Amino acid sequence: MKISDNVRMVPVPEDQPMRPTSTNIYIIGQRGGQTLTIDSGEAIDKFRWMLRGYLAAIDHSEIGVAAITHHHFDHSGNLKHVREHLKAEIAVPENGVKLLKRQLPKDNEGVKTYVDGDTIDLDGGVRVQVMTSPGHSVDSLCYYIEEEGILFTGDTILGNTTSVVGDVNSYMASLRRLLELPNVKVLCPGHGPLIRDTDDAKARDRLEMYVAHRQMREDQILEQLQDGEPKTSWQIMENIYGDSIDKRLRRAADGNVQAHLKSLQKSGVVRASRGQKKRPNPATVATNKAKDKANRKIIQKGKRLDKAQRAKILAQQENPPTDVWKKPPTYQLR
Ligand SMILES: [Zn+2]
Repeated sequence: MKISDNVRMVPVPEDQPMRPTSTNIYIIGQRGGQTLTIDSGEAIDKFRWMLRGYLAAIDHSEIGVAAITHHHFDHSGNLKHVREHLKAEIAVPENGVKLLKRQLPKDNEGVKTYVDGDTIDLDGGVRVQVMTSPGHSVDSLCYYIEEEGILFTGDTILGNTTSVVGDVNSYMASLRRLLELPNVKVLCPGHGPLIRDTDDAKARDRLEMYVAHRQMREDQILEQLQDGEPKTSWQIMENIYGDSIDKRLRRAADGNVQAHLKSLQKSGVVRASRGQKKRPNPATVATNKAKDKANRKIIQKGKRLDKAQRAKILAQQENPPTDVWKKPPTYQLR
């Protein structure tokens, strides 16, 4: 999908609620010029195929630089693949390197890092600014093309929902910083549809809405604690959300409540008891591990059989159907 002459969106459809509607890859650069990708999806075929398809549509079979918005695997899973098959130089947040571990090529070959204030200059005068925007994750980055008013937000801002927050204080600071950007017309989120200026609403309204939403959540949490009764984050989450959310998002919602509680604790408004962790039973841990291992073996075997079956069907195409005919019919002129 074309966002501007220089920017294309590759929305890869998703069916899980943690990645609402799509996971998005962005391709930046002019037709025939150097390309930058922002995020490259999870390490599975559908992302690779869609990325290749969109690159082909702008006459590209390679990527200049493959950058990411943060280390989470739905954004960074294909880094090794694009390095190996699309010859991309890889660019990751400086403080994300240690979090990426196995997602990066051996010895970090072909990997460079971005810090706040870096710029990426592409052919045709396309300039992309790099901004750190911690909060969703510690290493979150946004990318910004000021000239065109296009802001790539990763999971800091999503297309149709609010996001998961790891650190509320830094998240709020990041949102406020984005609000100060001089020219914002389109927000390009890591998941879900674009947020564009329309006649009724401005893209930047979404940033304000996010700030207001976090404030509202904090107020709701404080209200839950008004009665003086100690509560777990899960109880607070259930009281606030009730049945209004997809059950599969309850842990994510609980995580956000915890992030708020941590911030309130830091500012001295809330105090917490220590809690007590369960000690896992070593026998159960060992049994579960063995079960997982056995299942993985079965899956591997299934994959091998599937591959062999496909190869067999293809090989059959090369040879006469001796499995069908003892003696095939013959033909001659009357
Ligand atoms: Zn994500």
